[in-house]
Amino acid sequence: MKVLIADDENITRRRLEKLLTDMGYEVVSCKDGLDAWDVIKSKNAPSLLILDWMMPGMDGVEICRKVRKLAREPYTFILLLTSKGKHDDFVKGMDAGADDYITKPFDQNELRVRLKAGKRIIELNEELLSVRDNFAKQASNDELTGLYNRHYMLEILRTEFARAQRYKTDLSCILLDLDCFKDVNDTFGHTFGDLVLREFSEELKQNARKTDIPIRYGGEEFMVLLPNTGIAGAQKLAEKIRTRCEKKKYVDGNNSTTVTVSIGIASLKQHQLTEGREIIACADKALYQSKAEGRNRITVYMKKPSWISEDNKISEDRDLGHLKESLSVILEKTKKSSIESLELLTRDLGGKEHKQHNHDVKRYINLIGETLALPPSIIETFKRSANFHDNFKVLLRKTLKAKNKVLNNEERNEIEDHPYMLSELIDMFDFFANEKSILQHHHENYNGTGYPDGLKESEIPLGARIFAMTDAIAAMLSGRLYKAKMSPEEMIAELADKAGTQFDPMLVSLFFDIIERQELFSVPAEVLEQAREKVCKAR
Ligand code: GH3
Ligand code: MG
Ligand code: MG
Repeated sequence: MKVLIADDENITRRRLEKLLTDMGYEVVSCKDGLDAWDVIKSKNAPSLLILDWMMPGMDGVEICRKVRKLAREPYTFILLLTSKGKHDDFVKGMDAGADDYITKPFDQNELRVRLKAGKRIIELNEELLSVRDNFAKQASNDELTGLYNRHYMLEILRTEFARAQRYKTDLSCILLDLDCFKDVNDTFGHTFGDLVLREFSEELKQNARKTDIPIRYGGEEFMVLLPNTGIAGAQKLAEKIRTRCEKKKYVDGNNSTTVTVSIGIASLKQHQLTEGREIIACADKALYQSKAEGRNRITVYMKKPSWISEDNKISEDRDLGHLKESLSVILEKTKKSSIESLELLTRDLGGKEHKQHNHDVKRYINLIGETLALPPSIIETFKRSANFHDNFKVLLRKTLKAKNKVLNNEERNEIEDHPYMLSELIDMFDFFANEKSILQHHHENYNGTGYPDGLKESEIPLGARIFAMTDAIAAMLSGRLYKAKMSPEEMIAELADKAGTQFDPMLVSLFFDIIERQELFSVPAEVLEQAREKVCKAR
């Protein structure tokens, strides 16, 4: 421990220097009060001070007073040297902030124990400070990445937002979410996922400027708050992070992968915000748009996403494109959850070997896909196929085994060699194929004059024929679009009129029966009868 000795008497000072050095202290020695005060003010000043009461320049009591005003951490322990018999001096000294005193000429042992007490107090204080700092760090920092946590972010945001408003400066918020991170965990495990999160955080720290504040916002979501920075600066940093992230390889043993990040940005001035939380909400909306538009991209918040903007300069094609991308995100999630349900079904049936095999195959697909620089969505499809294949095989094997007890090699091969079985099962996962064919053909006419394929009669899928007719009935009765609303009688006449040309006459007759049986509309019996006759002729 470092000790400062301040005494203008050469003999006492030298004696002190020798004694303290022998006791193992590191000694800084001064001849007067002013020199001593310079040392005390400096960085890394000693925490243990031995001050003479009477000194030229500045006396010990004045130094005591000034030291206490500094309120240094850790605590500064002051031992005052007073002359024998000057009782008032010691009272004044302790009153000014000294912790202890010793009278000259002093006894060597007395000095040793008094310093020991001082050292103990300083060490206890240091311990207390370290507990406090650790506690503060835990409360404000995320354990895995060392970045500030969400809780602390809210505090920083409040302060920074208020500061920006007061001084009319800007403040930007970059919100980042790692893309398809669940897949990283699923393919390589959580430990590897944690490594990715740590290394990504490191990248954030490296790229941010000193004044930027990187935060772990949630699981795989991050934030950088940029005080004094407008939208352009934020975009620049975001682009730097995005491109670095895209190129970075995360490696751990045999596992290696790349991860992309989607980003949303908002700024106080650009978006005329009045409250700290608004900046997060805006950045979050922009981030969502980045996800919906295909991930690995940056979006600056706009009041309305461009695809529902009223600005008619934006082409219909683009609108449709955005809508398709938003829907494809929903579809991706549906696909993922279907596979997860399938995996759950085979989890205990396949055993360890099956799991390992599946894991290896997906790893090789990843490696090959990355080497060929295939888009992640394509690699994902390949990996999904592997999942289907492996899980179906387990299920097939289990089903045949239950029937035939033990499978012989031939039967085993039969499963291996019959892709048709697998394809029959995968058909079950093609959930919307039928819906698709209905939508595709609901404008076909029964007599073949419709579009897009000019199909006729039973070539038109039954669902499409039913949909075309029911859609028309509802439209006629409600007066949808520009057409006038029809009465039930008029609707019935129209159906009869178009039976055989636009509508399937069998379905029209069927509907008439239903109207009668269910008394759907109060129409005179003869109206239905006439209509029926007309349809019969058409058939
Ligand atoms: P998206 O591109 O839509 O953001 O897809 P995603 O898979 O990244 O998003 P989702 O929200 O579905 O999944 C986030 C995953 O992040 C799920 C969770 O297991 C993982 N995760 C969250 N916190 C941690 C963590 O501390 N460690 C690890 N290893 N994984 C985490
Ligand atoms: Mg997320
Ligand atoms: Mg994510």
